[in-house]
Amino acid sequence: MTVTFTAAFQPADMRGFIGTCLTGPAVFTTGTLASREDAVVATRAHASGCADEDCRYYGGQVTVDEVVSWPEVNVSNANARTLLDALGYLADEDDPELCGVADADLFLGRVLLALAVAPADAGVPAHAAVENPRAIDLGRRPGYVQERLEQLRTLAEECRTAGREVTWA
Ligand SMILES: [Zn+2]
Repeated sequence: MTVTFTAAFQPADMRGFIGTCLTGPAVFTTGTLASREDAVVATRAHASGCADEDCRYYGGQVTVDEVVSWPEVNVSNANARTLLDALGYLADEDDPELCGVADADLFLGRVLLALAVAPADAGVPAHAAVENPRAIDLGRRPGYVQERLEQLRTLAEECRTAGREVTWA
């Protein structure tokens, strides 16, 4: 499981829907379609006659055609917990909410504060996972937290400029 930090979605970000073949980025819909249903119909029509077996079986894919793409910071749940803790967003460590939304200015303030006060991340070696001793927690490399905080700073600054909230889920 992973958590992605990005800008809060707004309908104006979305141009519409496009259908693509599973074998590649080739768009087979005629331009961008306004409705997801139309894109699904076009995708199925394509897939039923596609030369690719997987595409025929799985039915191609429908994706959102975005006007702008925002930076995304994608991390594992374990690392999201560490970052949210550093940002002061983890109210209950035993039952962490790994999704949320925040004003970009306030989020940026927390990131800058975390960068200023967080000790250099010494990393965590791989170890048996606490919740499941048969699973391996891969840990994280030294400096990881600061590196991700810098990415979150870039995201927060872009969101602030654009008047967007920052979300994570
Ligand atoms: Zn296909």
